[in-house]
Amino acid sequence: MNKAELEKLYPAGTRVELVKMDDPHTRLKPGDKGTVEFIDDALSVHIRWDSGEGLAAIFGMDIIKVVKKYLLIGSYTPEIDEAEAIIERGGTEQGWVFKDENAFVNRTDKVCYIPELHDTGYTRQNFLDMCGGREDFAAELFDFVDWQSPETLLQEWLANGEWDECEKCDWLYSLHPTPAACEKCGAEFKTEGGGND
Ligand SMILES: [Zn+2]
Repeated sequence: MNKAELEKLYPAGTRVELVKMDDPHTRLKPGDKGTVEFIDDALSVHIRWDSGEGLAAIFGMDIIKVVKKYLLIGSYTPEIDEAEAIIERGGTEQGWVFKDENAFVNRTDKVCYIPELHDTGYTRQNFLDMCGGREDFAAELFDFVDWQSPETLLQEWLANGEWDECEKCDWLYSLHPTPAACEKCGAEFKTEGGGND
């Protein structure tokens, strides 16, 4: 097994579970879960364990297994010191992006999406901010964005009547179905076609 083969088995973002670790000093125990960060030249699989431990699993000694596959398109290495960030986009049906569902689900501050046309890295927090802090809206936006920037898709949905914003307080809401009033400020929404004449 070489590094490239290991990286195919355990791409960054892969969720893994510890089966056995050959280290008498670790607090990790079988069944502990973590997320693969990268694999180094010594074939150690570097894992961010959910418990906060940062111990790498050594291939051939320690035993880990893959837990769940999150959607991962392309790869992204954040800038470290003077080294620039490395972005490798992968194909979607519409274009070329980096998209990391694990980062979106588990890490508020980690880049989980980079659109096709510019190198802005979006985090879960960025999606949340765009959606007024609404988890379900942020998740839907993340699910559907596949080449454009999330702002563009959001504007598209606002323009074509998927979502709308309260004119008074900017509260985001879905038009399927249109609520009678704003959940946040209570402003009444006009229904389509304004049938009260
Ligand atoms: Zn409102």
